[in-house]
Amino acid sequence: MIGAVDIGGTKIAVGMVDDGGVVRSRMEAPTDPHRYAAGIDTIADMLRKTAVQAGSQISGIGIGSTGPVDPMKGEFGDVDFLPGWRGKNPVKDLAALFKVQVALENDGDAAALAEAGWGAGRNRTRLIYVTVGTGIGGGIIIDGKLYRGVDGAHPEVGHHVVDPAGPACSCGFRGCWESLAAGPAMVAWIERHAPADYAHRQGITAKKICQLAQKGDALALQAVEHEASYLGLGLANLINLFAPDAIVLSGSVMKSASLFMDRIHEVIRGGCRFVPAEKTVLTLASLGEDTNLIGAARVWHYRFADGL
Ligand SMILES: [Zn+2]
Repeated sequence: MIGAVDIGGTKIAVGMVDDGGVVRSRMEAPTDPHRYAAGIDTIADMLRKTAVQAGSQISGIGIGSTGPVDPMKGEFGDVDFLPGWRGKNPVKDLAALFKVQVALENDGDAAALAEAGWGAGRNRTRLIYVTVGTGIGGGIIIDGKLYRGVDGAHPEVGHHVVDPAGPACSCGFRGCWESLAAGPAMVAWIERHAPADYAHRQGITAKKICQLAQKGDALALQAVEHEASYLGLGLANLINLFAPDAIVLSGSVMKSASLFMDRIHEVIRGGCRFVPAEKTVLTLASLGEDTNLIGAARVWHYRFADGL
């Protein structure tokens, strides 16, 4: 049984994941962005408790974390969300506490490994995992191996530019895919286009827009159409660049994927003429809410058990 640790900006989930990728027990706690030592104590405590709940010993620990992280050194990089964790090494610290092998990856890469190993991407060796929620992130697997950039860097699929006249992004560019196609972009579109008397303007969210579109609300349907066009454009770029076997789609916005898929396919058909785009399967992630936690466990398998 692998102890899985999913570290996010607001919460840490910990659980026991068996060799088939099934979560046997889980707990979570809020992340304290300023106090790393307390965070490690909380993680260790949750690992011990979830191991007892699952009635098993911990044979290894895998960590998926909000980035940037250095997967080979096991260190946190310049993590925006967790200033007190910068430069700290949870791999060394948890290995010392539990006397097992520990591995760390960026959470997008961890989720990509999970879907490739135990989920919708099984048996697809060229796979791109894309999660669309409050941002857009993901991971790239080429010939069965996690693609790493220079110095082990994690590529940022959400920050390729689709419209240089688009909104400013935290990365420094304007019009990144993330700034135009993540959930907040849909909200911004409605806020810009809704007439003053639009009944649903107050407290509108991406989820609410999708619900309204499903009920036939004309403005919400336009927001969805706009969203789907930008989703399609970014996915088309990935298909042109990588011609992958599959793109696995995940994240809160993709819970309403049926609203977007027709337009997405239409955009891809409209522009990917020089690659066999029709052979790239667009599929939904299959591991559900616990993808990141399962991904953390898969990180251990990938590093120590798969022989890669
Ligand atoms: Zn950006």
